Amino acid sequence: CGIVGYIGNEQAKDILIKGLHKLEYRGYDSAGIALVGDNGLGLYKEKGRIAELEKTIGKEAAGKTGIGHTRWATHGAPSKENAHPHQSVSKRFTLVHNGVIENYQQLKHEYLQNVELASETDTEIIVQLIETFAEKGLSTEEAFRRTLSLLHGSYAIALVDNQDNDTIYVGKNKSPLLVGIGDGVNVVASDAMAMLHITKEFIEIMDQEVVIVKKDSVQVKNLDGTNVARESFTTDIDE
Ligand code: GLU
Repeated sequence: CGIVGYIGNEQAKDILIKGLHKLEYRGYDSAGIALVGDNGLGLYKEKGRIAELEKTIGKEAAGKTGIGHTRWATHGAPSKENAHPHQSVSKRFTLVHNGVIENYQQLKHEYLQNVELASETDTEIIVQLIETFAEKGLSTEEAFRRTLSLLHGSYAIALVDNQDNDTIYVGKNKSPLLVGIGDGVNVVASDAMAMLHITKEFIEIMDQEVVIVKKDSVQVKNLDGTNVARESFTTDIDE
């Protein structure tokens, strides 16, 4: 029921775990993180408390880009398979999602008849759609925007591509999501609270916008790809 993301010069693991702990108050039944490093992507998820997740994360876990999630199950029982992050069949794309995709059955029927799904979640449809469009030749950003334009329902999403550890793609509709701006580091969170240990400066994202987040830039766009100008604000909440 909460999302975090980190991209910068430090190892993302502990920063993401701290962020997930700050989101515990929202309630959850499972948790997970994905780290993108020089040696590829590491995926760690577990049913239960964040302490259970931490036990599964080995010392080798590395990456200065990462996303994390606490889940409040709506589609599919609380289990390791249904915990986020979810991955596409080729494992190229990995994402976390809060919310409910109301038309996921229709999308599955229309676009994913030949895809074998690994979970019972509405969320997995999103990541498989992104891969389907990328395989047709769209860039990751285009595939992400195209996919979001097909979704009905609520979502806050953070996506990583294991062929590019310099970018986190985020988008939202009717679920909260903020991008935090630091010095050579940017973060993503459902609630500013989760990332006050990194920054107090944030930008708000509006419904049906995406943000392309790199460690020293953030670019806000509409789903059709047009750029949007957005000023940041500084929160006066204390950690
Ligand atoms: N609908 C998704 C699921 O059941 C996301 C739930 C959430 O917001 O945590 O996995």
